[in-house]
Amino acid sequence: MAITGGCQCGAVRYAMHVERVEKAHTCHCRMCQKATGGLFAALAGCAKDKLEWTKGDPAFFASSNLAMRGFCPDCGTPLTFAYNTPEARIYVTIGSLDDPELAAIEIQYGLESRISWVKFCEDVPGEFTGDSPDAQAFFAGMKNNQG
Ligand SMILES: [Zn+2]
Ligand SMILES: [Zn+2]
Repeated sequence: MAITGGCQCGAVRYAMHVERVEKAHTCHCRMCQKATGGLFAALAGCAKDKLEWTKGDPAFFASSNLAMRGFCPDCGTPLTFAYNTPEARIYVTIGSLDDPELAAIEIQYGLESRISWVKFCEDVPGEFTGDSPDAQAFFAGMKNNQG
């Protein structure tokens, strides 16, 4: 049993060896907007050791010193997001799943950057980046590598 997906050209494929995805969410932060070229990122997670690349290999961009974003080196489809630490999860882009219906979002992040005309899943609860002291401490050391 695996939840599968891949990029638009088919060069990179993955399998999440889990029964269901975890913590499906959108992130409206500016970095996720830039990284996806979309209005927000839509991501669903599993433990890092449960994600297997079954065809090809993604390339990675360190969008900051805190996180890596995987994408297809051939067609550019955004595929993954993972913090280097302390989060033990890796997230795949919900749009790259073979069946995005498996990843109904549970929470939204980065509401401070949500584009004003994006009316989307407004019944889903959300958080602002750096809501908690722990989050503030984590992001205080971030160096943004985006242009
Ligand atoms: Zn591709
Ligand atoms: Zn984000």
